[in-house]
Amino acid sequence: MSSPTFGLAGIMGWPVAHSRSPKLHNYWLEMYGLPGAYVQLPVAPGQLDLALPGLAALGFRGCNITLPHKVDTLKLVHEVDANAKRMGALNTLVVQPDGSLKGFNNDGFGYIQSLLDAQPDWRADSGPITVLGAGGAARAVVLSLADRGAKEIRLLNRTPEKAQALAAEFGAPVKALPWSQRHAALADVALLVNTTSQGMHGNPALELTLDALPRHALVSDVIYVPLETPLLAAARLRGNPTVNGLGMLLNQARPAFHAWFGVMPEITPELRRAVEATL
Ligand code: NAP
Repeated sequence: MSSPTFGLAGIMGWPVAHSRSPKLHNYWLEMYGLPGAYVQLPVAPGQLDLALPGLAALGFRGCNITLPHKVDTLKLVHEVDANAKRMGALNTLVVQPDGSLKGFNNDGFGYIQSLLDAQPDWRADSGPITVLGAGGAARAVVLSLADRGAKEIRLLNRTPEKAQALAAEFGAPVKALPWSQRHAALADVALLVNTTSQGMHGNPALELTLDALPRHALVSDVIYVPLETPLLAAARLRGNPTVNGLGMLLNQARPAFHAWFGVMPEITPELRRAVEATL
């Protein structure tokens, strides 16, 4: 009987040294007793077209794609999954049996799963949703909430044109509102999501007054450094349930690991603790 072959995967970006993905995937390789390694693949801007064709030749099963390559990779792979096409960005590549590359985006899956992990009976259609920010993370969050049946998504961004463009692209139920209305846009919502970089380590806190927010509303922040942003701390203090960004990070990795190594991995409390220790 032949033994399983050594599996290789990695994280391609510039820089990649700060990424928690090696910790995560190597933890799962060990947990499931699979021979393999997940390595850093630092690829400078301008080198992507040289690096990608090398993956199959080097025996990689695939890799994650991070900044600044998430959009440029779309044009350089042989096939793009329908969901990644709609997101306009990739975060995962899988080497196909014929050596060609197929691109996926699991950020939306990771986001929805993080809400379900926190509240198993959570539903996207249980009330209006307010999303702050209109960058890359917002695309994944808004699209996945709309796909889960959200009926009204109020989208507010400091630069209004970006929110308007997303609303025009995704259509109903997404409505762009002026940034100045963000405090009032919390009335009646079942879910508030911060996808801006405000509140992240090194950045000022998001300027937001929570007075209009119903106390039962779920408050989610996609930031995971720190685990509790000033927004989440303020929400917790007034009694709102909260979800931090670590669950999105951990859950987006699961379908990628499955595609490369054949096991849908579980997020155990020990794994959470191991990754939290690196934050
Ligand atoms: P991005 O594309 O650069 O978007 C940044 C967003 O923040 C934009 O909407 C931007 O508004 C807004 N913003 C920046 N400075 C602001 C300010 N002073 N006031 C108000 N809004 C401001 O970045 P991204 O990739 O979406 O990432 C955003 C955050 O999500 C980061 O903290 C990142 O770490 C986190 N993230 C987490 C995960 C996860 O797995 N948990 C995944 C992806 C991203 P403008 O358009 O006006 O500039």
